[in-house]
Amino acid sequence: MKSPSTGMSAWSNPLHPDVFPGVRKMEAEVVRMCCTMFHGDASSCGVMTTGGTESIIMACKAYRDYAINVKGIKKPEMLVPVSAHAAFDKGAQLLGMRIRHVPLDPETMKVDIAAMRKMINRNTCMLAGSAPQFPHGVMDPIIEIAGLGLRYDIPVHVDACLGGFLIPFMDDAGFPLAPFDFRVEGVTSISADTHKYGYAPKGSSVIIYNEPKWRHHQFFVTPDWPGGIYATPTIGGSRSGGIVSACWAALVYHGKRGYVDYTRSIIQTTRKIEEGCRKIKGVFVYGKPEVSVVALGSNDYNIYQLSDRMGKRGWNLNALQYPPSIHIAVTVLHTHPGVAERFIKDIDELSKEILENPPKDAGGSAALYGMAQSIPDRSLVGEMAWCYLDAVYSTKISEKPTIE
Ligand SMILES: *Cc1c(COP(=O)(O)O)cnc(C)c1O
Repeated sequence: MKSPSTGMSAWSNPLHPDVFPGVRKMEAEVVRMCCTMFHGDASSCGVMTTGGTESIIMACKAYRDYAINVKGIKKPEMLVPVSAHAAFDKGAQLLGMRIRHVPLDPETMKVDIAAMRKMINRNTCMLAGSAPQFPHGVMDPIIEIAGLGLRYDIPVHVDACLGGFLIPFMDDAGFPLAPFDFRVEGVTSISADTHKYGYAPKGSSVIIYNEPKWRHHQFFVTPDWPGGIYATPTIGGSRSGGIVSACWAALVYHGKRGYVDYTRSIIQTTRKIEEGCRKIKGVFVYGKPEVSVVALGSNDYNIYQLSDRMGKRGWNLNALQYPPSIHIAVTVLHTHPGVAERFIKDIDELSKEILENPPKDAGGSAALYGMAQSIPDRSLVGEMAWCYLDAVYSTKISEKPTIE
């Protein structure tokens, strides 16, 4: 969405709230709207970031620094479900923290609470759960994780990056959900991506805390820099005010009614797709998808063959691994008449095709993921990924892009 406010504020910089007071106010209001949405009280607070990854990294930093400075923990470590987003691993690497992955219940794909409890030790500085998790769209048992947090006095982060603008509206949309936010005692922070189901342009997300003490440990402050007393809330220095205003505009424009209506159609469509897929021979649905993602696997063939063939029909499905699976994330586009029906029909036809005529050699992502998961030396797979990233930055020599 291109709002007029984006145009006016595209060259502004929230780093200088005195120069751009309007942008400051909009950012504060985005945060407050999200605090309220997640049932935070007057002491709840937060900041805007550039995306879910940064929101998660900021929560990790807050809890790391709280652990070191307040609790005297020397080597803080975090416990996250195996299904948690890779942003936690990125955060652990950047922040020099240890990350330990808690196994899932193989039936429900929810984090195994007993295993999480056993992995808690005196270095544990944060627990995390996802609402819902990215791979299979399953809600982690937030109430139970928060219970562990209370019992062992450890802060609990709820990653609602994906579901942050769906789950708060599900009760009103007619799909009640167990509480997952600050209504649950023990939940201390929530990340939510305005640039996903908040329908703001890419480059915005929020991290919300139940109390200011966590946020203080997130801030970066250096009082002695010759460039001035330097203080920033997040990783970046200069940022775009355009993103802030576009995000503010999206929240105000859609409003609660808009989000409830979108949520209702998205959940209805997801349930339709789930039910349809459960009847199709050759595939099964992982766990109980409660929000907008349905993940499929197969006991009869290489599931990536299905996503490759779906790709040829114009469907872009995410490939997941451990265990092999593919998923669809249902968006507003999929709620249009006939789209879900076509999806189910295509899965049905192509699954039949593979069952009736099993291909001997897998090609495409079927080959790639099949092979990648079977290579025990993970560093080899890592090097393949470097090549992929290098290729993203390739240019045609013949075109010689230049600023001259
Ligand atoms: C998308 C996502 C993230 C990371 O968000 P980015 O905006 O891509 O950085 C984190 N957690 C979950 C569950 C997500 O779906």
